[in-house]
Amino acid sequence: MAQEKRESSINLYVLDGGVIDIADMDPFSDTGEYRGHPGRLAVSCFLIRHPRGLLVWDAGLGDEIASSPNGAELAPGFIGRVPTPLEAQIGTLGLTFKDIDLFAPSHVHPDHVGNANAFVHSTWVLNRREMEWLDQNPTPAGVNPAQIKVRETATVKLIEDNFDVFGDGTVRILQIPGHTPGHQALSLKLEKAGPIILAGDLFHSRHNLEHRCIPVFNTSRAETLASIDRMQRIVANTGARLVLSHAMEDVEALPKFPAHLD
Ligand SMILES: [Zn+2]
Repeated sequence: MAQEKRESSINLYVLDGGVIDIADMDPFSDTGEYRGHPGRLAVSCFLIRHPRGLLVWDAGLGDEIASSPNGAELAPGFIGRVPTPLEAQIGTLGLTFKDIDLFAPSHVHPDHVGNANAFVHSTWVLNRREMEWLDQNPTPAGVNPAQIKVRETATVKLIEDNFDVFGDGTVRILQIPGHTPGHQALSLKLEKAGPIILAGDLFHSRHNLEHRCIPVFNTSRAETLASIDRMQRIVANTGARLVLSHAMEDVEALPKFPAHLD
């Protein structure tokens, strides 16, 4: 029994992938709620320590931005800053990028794969639909295949449905397309903290969630609404804690790294 208990224990660390200051949040709703309002998004990524391996979920804005004190203009009106490089953060745990067994992004927007190419030694879990979209010619707006170039040499596990990462039901990738064609969430069963779902960019803020605001840049409004419906039913049925990776209040409510949830 004691052995089984150890086997099931998982730690969830929230890593700081940076912050984005936005001059006008208008694009975050196609129904006009945010027009003229500035905003700030947290950029979080996550380290999951499972008895069978270390998984990094999303990879932040990119450590190279940390060397620019004023940040980097990601797009007109979007300024990204990286206060602490990801490499230094995982170094706090005595780890390097080489120690990470698995890397999986919620989707391939630049604020989720900034450090992806650092995971040369990891197995990459990638969504087939997301890759087919990214590889279109011309490249879709807002994504850059060079940011995940290492997929060409890394070991890649292509998935097209929900996926049980360690095979024991405790860490599962859920398909919630619409923000991008292969957008995904990560569902965790933690021993003490209970069920928790890292919702990726299904919602960018709590206001987004409450009012079902759909960003203009989502690839499908209909798929997003279907994914919101699926997620809200899962949350209702499991009592899972939903974490919006860009919502400052959600990230601040998690234990401050290197503290973690168990
Ligand atoms: Zn994002």
